[in-house]
Amino acid sequence: MTDLIQQQPAVTNSARPWHAVPVEEALQALATGDDGLDGQEASRRLAGHGRNRLPVAKPRGAFRRFLAQFDNLLIYVLLASAAITLALGHGTDAAVIAAVVLLNAAIGFVQEGRAERALSAIRGMLAPHASVMRGGHRLTVEAETLVPGDLVLLDPGDRVPADLRFLRTRNLRIEEAALTGESIPVDKSPAPVGPEAPLGDRSSVAFSGTLVAAGRGAGVVVATGADTEIGRISALVGAVETLRTPLLRQMDGFARRLTFVVLGLSAAIFAFAVLARGYAAEDAFLVVVGIAVAAIPEGLPAVMTIALAIGVRRMAARNAIVRRLPAVETLGSVAIICTDKTGTLTRNEMTVAAAVTSAATFAVSGEGYDPSGAVQHGEEEIDPAKHPVLGELARAALLCNDAALRRSDAGWVVDGDPMEGALVAFANKVGFDTQTLRPQLPRSDEIPFDAQHRFMATLHHDHAVGAFLCLKGAPEQVLAMSGRQRGPAGDEPLDPVAWRERVEALAALGQRVLAVATKPMPPETRELAFADAESGLTLLGLLGLIDPPREEAVAAVRDCQAAGIRVKMITGDHAATAVAIARQLGIENPHAVATGAELDGLDDAALRRAARDTDVFARTAPEHKLRLVEALQADGAVLAMTGDGVNDAPALKRADIGVAMGRKGTEAAKEAAEMVLADDNFASIVAAVREGRTVYDNLKKVIAWTLPTNGGEALTIIGAILIGLTLPITAVQILWINMVTAVALGLTLAFEPSEPGAMHRPPRATDEPLLSGFVIWRIIFVSILFVIGTFGMFFWAESRGLSLEEARTLVVNTIVVMEIFYLFSVRFQHGPSLTWSGVLGTPAVLIGVGLVILLQLAFTYAPPLQALFDTRPVGLSDGVAVVGAGVILLAVLEFEKLIRRRLGRWRFRHEAA
Ligand code: ATP
Repeated sequence: MTDLIQQQPAVTNSARPWHAVPVEEALQALATGDDGLDGQEASRRLAGHGRNRLPVAKPRGAFRRFLAQFDNLLIYVLLASAAITLALGHGTDAAVIAAVVLLNAAIGFVQEGRAERALSAIRGMLAPHASVMRGGHRLTVEAETLVPGDLVLLDPGDRVPADLRFLRTRNLRIEEAALTGESIPVDKSPAPVGPEAPLGDRSSVAFSGTLVAAGRGAGVVVATGADTEIGRISALVGAVETLRTPLLRQMDGFARRLTFVVLGLSAAIFAFAVLARGYAAEDAFLVVVGIAVAAIPEGLPAVMTIALAIGVRRMAARNAIVRRLPAVETLGSVAIICTDKTGTLTRNEMTVAAAVTSAATFAVSGEGYDPSGAVQHGEEEIDPAKHPVLGELARAALLCNDAALRRSDAGWVVDGDPMEGALVAFANKVGFDTQTLRPQLPRSDEIPFDAQHRFMATLHHDHAVGAFLCLKGAPEQVLAMSGRQRGPAGDEPLDPVAWRERVEALAALGQRVLAVATKPMPPETRELAFADAESGLTLLGLLGLIDPPREEAVAAVRDCQAAGIRVKMITGDHAATAVAIARQLGIENPHAVATGAELDGLDDAALRRAARDTDVFARTAPEHKLRLVEALQADGAVLAMTGDGVNDAPALKRADIGVAMGRKGTEAAKEAAEMVLADDNFASIVAAVREGRTVYDNLKKVIAWTLPTNGGEALTIIGAILIGLTLPITAVQILWINMVTAVALGLTLAFEPSEPGAMHRPPRATDEPLLSGFVIWRIIFVSILFVIGTFGMFFWAESRGLSLEEARTLVVNTIVVMEIFYLFSVRFQHGPSLTWSGVLGTPAVLIGVGLVILLQLAFTYAPPLQALFDTRPVGLSDGVAVVGAGVILLAVLEFEKLIRRRLGRWRFRHEAA
C-alpha cells in the first residue's frame, strides 16, 4: 500500500495533475474515503513519507556562533590593543586583554545559545494543528503528522496544512499570497480544472501554507512536506530570527559612537601624556589602552540581549508567548488593553441557566456540562414532557449545534464550542438524547455561525414532517428574521416588544442570550441559502447562559488600574450582558457602553472621543476593532488588542501589541499577532506587561551600572595624567577590574525580578529615551564619586607612608567594592535598596558578588597573582576602610534617591494642585 501511495503523486503529477483529477479518482488513487484513514494506516504512511514539514535551514554551528561574538567594533579595538601591547613585549597586559575578550565572548556565547534555544522551544509551543477525519471521527492533530490520504477539514482562519484536493467546499475562499503573492482570496470548489491551469487558477486544490479567508472545505491530502508546492519553491525556511530589537539597535549605535569618542579621547590623552607630561611613548600607550578598555562597555550589548531573552522566557512561563521580540519592549509602555470578553475575561465555561418561551420562564439547574439537572418553573421542578414548546426549543438547540459532550476523568468536557456544549447539556436535561436525535433528524445543509451575521442555521429532514430549518443566534438578529412565535396553542404573531423586555431582563443578569427559531421547508430542499433563513421564522424562545468572570481576570483588571492601564472590553455580546460582566470585573467605567451600530454612525473626531471615554463596546463586529485601534492610536496611545478570528487579523496587525488566543485562536490571528496567549487568559496579558516593564527596567539598570563604573575607572586615570600625579592604578590592574566586574556583576542585573512597585506606576512614555536625563546625571555623578573614592584612598594610603604597590592594591579593591555597593543601589531604581530583600539580593547577584569577592581575595593574597599584578596583601583595618568606602558610596546614593523621591512627590502634588 505504502509503495502505491508513494508512487502515486509522481504518476498523477506527470500524467494528470491533482487539480485535473475528478474527486472519486483522487480518493481511489490515495486509497482513502469519506471517513479518512484509520490511525494505523496513518502511522504506517507517516513512517513511509516522513513528517509533514519543510526542511529547516541548519542553525549556525557552535564555532560560527562563537566567532560571531567577536564581530563587534568594541572587540576589534580591544583585540588591536592586545596585538600592539604584545608587539611591545608586554605579554601580561596582552594576555589580560585577551582574557577580557575571551571571557566576554564565552559568556555571550553560552547565554545567547541558551536564549536562542529557549526561543526556539517557545516557537515550538506554537506548532500548527489541523482538523482531520481519522476513522470517521473529527480529530485535531499536529500538522506535522499529516500523510497523503488524510482527510483535512478547513475552517476560516486555518492555515492549509498540506497540499489538498477538495472533496467539498462551502463558500470557500483562500488567500494564496504565500505562494502567488496575490493577496485577494480566490474561490475554491471541488470541480476539476484543466491540467494546464496556472497556479492561481487551480481552484480544486489548496496549497500548503495558504490561509482560509472565509468558508469551509474538506480535502484529501495529496502531498506533504517538501513534496508540496511551497516545499518545491522554497527549499529552506525558518531562518533563525536574530535577537535584535529597536532598543538593542539603538544601544549598539550608542556603543559604536562611544567607541569612537573613547578612541579620540585616548589619542588626545596619549599626546598629552607624551608631550606635556614626558611619558615614554610605550608607557603612555599602555596607560591609554587601560583607559580604552575601562571606558568601552564591551559587555553591554551581550548583557542587554540576555536581559531581553530572559524576559521572553519569563513571559512564556506566564503563558504569554512572544512571536516578535520588539514586543518585549513595547509591552512595558502599553497604556490601553482592548480585550475580548468570552474566554479571555470570562471562563468560557457556559451553562444554560434560563429558558424562556412565550408562555413561561424556566430556571435550569446543574453544574458545568454535566447533562443531569432539573428544569424548574417558579419553585417547582417540572416535567418537560408537559411543555411542548420548551421541548421544541431544546430540540432545535441540539440540532443546530456541532458540539458533543464527553465524560473524562476530570468530569464532563465539550468537544467543540463551549456555548454549544452548554446547549447540548440543556437539551439532555429536557430529555433529548444526542445519540438518538441527531441520526434521526440528519442535517443536510447548514449556514455556519459567523460573527458578521451572528446566527447559525441547519436544514433537517424527517419522514413525518418533511424538511425544516433550525436557527439560533443573537436575539436582535433572530427577532428581525421572525414573523411569528410558538405558543402553547400553536403559532401566533410575534410580540417583539415583549421579547425585547425578556432579552433585557436576562442580559441584565450578565447572561449571554440566544434566540432559537424554526421554519418548515419544502421537502425537496437540499441546500440552505441565506434567503431561506432571513424571513418567515417562528421564534421558539430564548436561552440565557451564564459564563462567570475568571477570578484572575478580576485581579488583573485591578492590577491594570493601579498600573495606569485602561482596560476596554470589546465584545460581540449584547450591551446589557456586557455591562453586567464589566461591572463584575471592576472595569473602570462599566455603564457607558457603545454598540457597533453606534460606532458606525460616528465621524472620526466623535469616534476618537468615544474610543477614549468608553470602556465597554458591545455587539461589535471585527471591523470595529480595527476602527477602534486606529482611533485610539490617533490619540497617541500604545495599545494591546486581543483577537481570535480570521477577521481580527487586521486589527491585531495594526495594534502595537496584537494578542492572539492560543487555544481558540485561528492560525491567521496568531500569525498577525505579536504575542500568543497559551491559556487565552486576560491575566496573562497583564503578567506579560509586568515582565515587559521589568525587562525595560533591567535594561536601564544594566546601563545605569555599566556606564558610570566604566566612566569612573577611566576618569581616575585621565585625572591622574592631567594633573600630573602618579597613576593610582596601573593599566594591567584596570584590565583586571574590567575582566572581573564588567561581566560577573553587570550580567546579574539581567536576571533582576520585578521591583515591588513595577505595577504601581504609570506606563512609560513611548518617547522616553533609554539614556534619559537621569541616567546621564547618574553617569556624571557616580563617575565623580568613584574618582573621589579612588583618589581619597590613594592619598590616604600615601599619607600613612604605605608603598605605591600597597596603595594601588587598596585602590583596586576600593573600586571593586564600590562597584559591588553601587550594584545594590542600582537594583532598586524606584525604592530604597536598604531593605531585607534588597540586601539579600537574587541568586544571580549573590553568585556574581561571591565570585568577585573570591577573585579579589586571590588578586590580593595569592602569590602568583601578586606577581602578575604587582599587588601586596591588605591588612584588616585597611580592608575595613575599603568596605567603608563602599558603604559611604551607597549611603550617598540612597540619600540622593530619597531627595529625588521627595522632590518627585512634591512636584506631583504641586502639579496636581
Ligand atoms: P467576545 O467578543 O466577548 O469574545 P464572542 O466573540 O463570543 O464574544 P461573537 O462570537 O461575535 O461574540 O458572538 C456574538 C453573538 O452571536 C453572541 O452574543 C451570540 O448571541 C451569537 N452566537 C455566538 N456563537 C454562536 C453560535 N455558535 N451559534 C449561534 N449564535 C451564536
